[in-house]
Amino acid sequence: MREFDTQTFRLAVAQFDQAAEAMELDHNLRERLKFPQRSLIVSVPVRMDDGRVEVYTGYRVQHDSSRGPTKGGVRYHPDVNLGEVAALAMWMTWKCALTDLPYGGAKGAVAVDPAQLSRAELQRLTRRYAAEIFPLIGPEQDIPAPDVGTDAQVMAWMMDTYSQQVGYSVPGVVTGKPLSIGGSLGREEATGRGVTYVTIEALRHLKLDMRDCTVAIQGFGNVGSHTARIMQECGARVIAVSDVTGGIHNAKGLDIPELLTRYQTNGQTLRETKLGDWLSNDDLLQLDCTVLVPAALSEQITERNAAKLRCRILAEGANGPTTLEADRILQDKGVFIIPDILANSGGVIVSYFEWVQDVQRFFWKATDIQDRLQDILTNAFHRTLQFSLSRNTSMRMAALMSGIDKVAQAHLHRGLYP
Ligand code: GLU
Repeated sequence: MREFDTQTFRLAVAQFDQAAEAMELDHNLRERLKFPQRSLIVSVPVRMDDGRVEVYTGYRVQHDSSRGPTKGGVRYHPDVNLGEVAALAMWMTWKCALTDLPYGGAKGAVAVDPAQLSRAELQRLTRRYAAEIFPLIGPEQDIPAPDVGTDAQVMAWMMDTYSQQVGYSVPGVVTGKPLSIGGSLGREEATGRGVTYVTIEALRHLKLDMRDCTVAIQGFGNVGSHTARIMQECGARVIAVSDVTGGIHNAKGLDIPELLTRYQTNGQTLRETKLGDWLSNDDLLQLDCTVLVPAALSEQITERNAAKLRCRILAEGANGPTTLEADRILQDKGVFIIPDILANSGGVIVSYFEWVQDVQRFFWKATDIQDRLQDILTNAFHRTLQFSLSRNTSMRMAALMSGIDKVAQAHLHRGLYP
């Protein structure tokens, strides 16, 4: 289908094809799972503060609902397109299946730069987008969450808009909400905490100690900043972080609490914090370090720079950060890759906890959330590792194959309608 044909979609399909081939997946299923089940494109007209009406394009793509309601974030980014959203939705399907969450995969997006909007404009955009995708979403149907460019406040507006349409409060329609309306403890930091938990297991497998470990992180949004903080709390030395403007490097280790205060509270740029020497995003990826965490956008590690990476472990906080060609180069170099659908699944796992709490109207303690998250991720890591060792395949293929297999089982049991 030509409408999906973009670089990111091609990457997701190439990964899927490779896994499907290796597991000898049924041909009929292959054709079905390559493309999403449902895709909606909407116009999102927004009255700007100066009275003009600006029309943005929004998307919601549901890749597969055979295992339960579909689940996945909403991204606000100027360059998003249907193919990228479809790729991200497909990755959500494998991610949810890999850790046995009773969900299929989905993703949404609006092609907009949220930094260019006032808070009131952002609220109007969010509410109109939520109203336009209203027929597709719901706690039993499809459950959005934060992603690049969106946060708990955006989720609160989506939850309110949905609730206004049906006439009563429906906290379970979105996850990643503020605590006051049914959010979960530990959700905001969940992806970063999950990246840390699987990294701890990878280090243990490689007989390395977190306290001797250096970490470089590309991206300082939700995933990158919490990963930096929690890795440091666990004893690692975080030597570099970056955002779209570039990064900072300090071989002795960055003072992360101080950095967070200057960056998030005082609004300084990374460079203005003066806590390290300035370096470019490309330089950051090539730093000599134990763990490299790409936590920004997709396709950052390509055949152009993969050979220059000097990390022992690549923990993919972002979705789709590594191209297929780069993957091959890194494997040949012996880099241990914790693939995205495993490494960053902490976010959707705690989203699942949030949804369960909302549906049951019974809320858990922070320690329950952390313990259950660690339990699920540690198990998923070791299952994937065993699979990869026993089948002599990469961690990425092992993760994809076990996720795809669970979806295939669901399809085969349910059969083809009509
Ligand atoms: N946006 C996150 C992801 O890519 C979280 C999705 C969710 O919690 O539903 O996994």
